Amino acid sequence: MKSKELFELASKYMPGGVSSPVRAYKPYPFFTASAKGSRIYDIDGKEYIDYCLAYGPLVLGHGNEEVKGAVREQLEKGWLYGTPHEKEIELAKKIINYYPSVELVRFVNTGSEATMAGIRLARGFKERDKIVKIEGGFHGAHDGVLVKAGSGATTFGIPDSKGVPKDSVINTLQVPFNDAEALNNTLENNSGEVAAVILEPVMGNVGPIPPRNNYLGDVRKITEEKDVLLILDEVITGFRLALGGAQEFYGVNADLTILGKIVGGGFPIGVLGGKKEIMELVAPSGEVYQAGTFSGNPVSITAGLKTVEIIEREGVPRRINEFGARLNTALSEILADSGVEGCVSGVGSMFKVFFSAGGKEVRNYADALSCDKNKYLRFFHKMLSAGIFLPPSQFETNFISFAHTEEDVERTTEAYKENINDLHG
Ligand SMILES: *Cc1c(COP(=O)(O)O)cnc(C)c1O
Repeated sequence: MKSKELFELASKYMPGGVSSPVRAYKPYPFFTASAKGSRIYDIDGKEYIDYCLAYGPLVLGHGNEEVKGAVREQLEKGWLYGTPHEKEIELAKKIINYYPSVELVRFVNTGSEATMAGIRLARGFKERDKIVKIEGGFHGAHDGVLVKAGSGATTFGIPDSKGVPKDSVINTLQVPFNDAEALNNTLENNSGEVAAVILEPVMGNVGPIPPRNNYLGDVRKITEEKDVLLILDEVITGFRLALGGAQEFYGVNADLTILGKIVGGGFPIGVLGGKKEIMELVAPSGEVYQAGTFSGNPVSITAGLKTVEIIEREGVPRRINEFGARLNTALSEILADSGVEGCVSGVGSMFKVFFSAGGKEVRNYADALSCDKNKYLRFFHKMLSAGIFLPPSQFETNFISFAHTEEDVERTTEAYKENINDLHG
């Protein structure tokens, strides 16, 4: 069967034919046969250079042989124990080594789970209910963070999904990214009521939007002044921008850190980490409850550990950031030469072409929303035809992996050139 037929079939058995919404693009998504290195192969016989990379975890590309070997070895010893095992300590030590703000970690299964636990922990620690998140910031799909950007920057949230009780988000306040003053005002207006500010240091789920003008430094200063915890959601940036994530890259530190994606080496994982005095409140040492059958499972931990070892040994962030910088420059030039209105947004190995009016820089969620989504979708399909798999949404980030080669980058640049020029009219 071909992708088209399989998608019709899948749609009979699964809502929208997929297991996660962003995978379903029109008219139908390709079904994957296999993937290796920088390439993903569909069942219709086409090969693509993959910049979607499963939305972030695959920093070494697909099917890394060393990770595979380590996982195989682990499988021989069992894949789920429900007891402590030694590799948890090894991975915890690595994380604590690279994230100086982290002294204790709790392993969970997904980024969503980690942010959910992190917010609960912050509330438990501060004994306050409100949190502040960034408009357009994504922290997984649980009730308290599924809040749309309100019209007023600092109004109480409106749920982003049916089925989320209003009461679940009444304590979720929102501010725009790259606006320290708005955060300061919100914390002032809710003085003594906010437990934590949670944010992605680089917004990754509306296309990458980097922090500008020492925004993260300001956020750190403001949260300290206002006695509010800072939760940095480094599910995307962790072990990508640098081994120490955005905290190392930008020189900030968090009270609580959320990791996921890369740190599981392509297997499900989430990590909640932070200062000892806060983390000790997590059960069983403290009174904030958190638990999970699959947490710390030896397969995810083994894959994560091996991945981190390779990132260290090969200096992965330096290499992928360098490729990212080159693509960023090349694509900016292509856009400028073509006369198509747009800009390249990103940092390190994360990038995206936004079709913004007048080529205006994208600084926050509202800016991202104002870009030409339809043009992006047309562009996405053109690139797909050219053998380049970009994320199918204007609001998802392109990633570069360690498996991407010089030749990949050149082919990609050529494809951008051809297809951007083709967007006229
Ligand atoms: C992907 C992501 C999450 C959610 O992680 P899952 O493992 O998909 O639950 C949370 N925060 C950020 C910033 C993410 O990109």
